[in-house]
Amino acid sequence: MAALDVELLEALSDNYVCLVVDPATGTSGVVDPAEADLVLRALEERDRKLDWILNTHHHADHTAGNLEVKRATGAKIAGPAADAHRIEGLDVELVEGENFVFGSHDVRILETPGHTSGHIAFFFADAKVLFCGDTLFALGCGRLFEGTPAQMWHSLEKFASMPDETLVYCGHEYTLSNARFALTVDPDNKALGARAAEIEQARASGRPTIPTTLGLERRTNPFLRPHDPGIRRHLGMEDAGDADVFAEIRARKDRF
Ligand code: ZN
Ligand code: FE
Repeated sequence: MAALDVELLEALSDNYVCLVVDPATGTSGVVDPAEADLVLRALEERDRKLDWILNTHHHADHTAGNLEVKRATGAKIAGPAADAHRIEGLDVELVEGENFVFGSHDVRILETPGHTSGHIAFFFADAKVLFCGDTLFALGCGRLFEGTPAQMWHSLEKFASMPDETLVYCGHEYTLSNARFALTVDPDNKALGARAAEIEQARASGRPTIPTTLGLERRTNPFLRPHDPGIRRHLGMEDAGDADVFAEIRARKDRF
């Protein structure tokens, strides 16, 4: 299996910036550089060049470091074509279905509207690594700023064909509050109960809960489980469609 090295950097109050290296070619990238200083310092400490800045969406907490990092390193910025008008300095406009070449990896680009209309995810299929920005979170999903619940559900369904062991790197450490919410809609899920306890411990000792895996999310994240009989019973939505159950869970989270 082609390898990919990923390192998490904690940024702002709860953002994750990812440093990525393809060991086969030395190609180096950063996903969603929230802060330039943090990224430049990390590159210097590792004595590392930078080839790519990858953006999942236009929000400032994912792009604010773009221009300064680009200026300092000469890296190219690749991000959603749909957001070209609101990501300054975008060099490579990505759309779904086109392969993006990162060193020895062919990266699948998925359009995942919902949190923002132009949101994309990067799937390194050969390394089984997914960078999903603010679409899917550990035990949660992004708020719907520029999309409908049906759109977001459709976006999340695009991850359905990916293997359980896929490592998921999302944009924020929201897992603890997500876990507390998840228990309110899926209280009888034993795997969720056990995971919630682990998360409480991890966060109490300052450890990140990222990356997660798609398999773990499928077993415990209510936003990937609108078909689950227990959740449906709990919501009184036994006969509803998946998108409608998803919408109800999202609405409850907004009020949580
Ligand atoms: Zn965002
Ligand atoms: Fe964000």
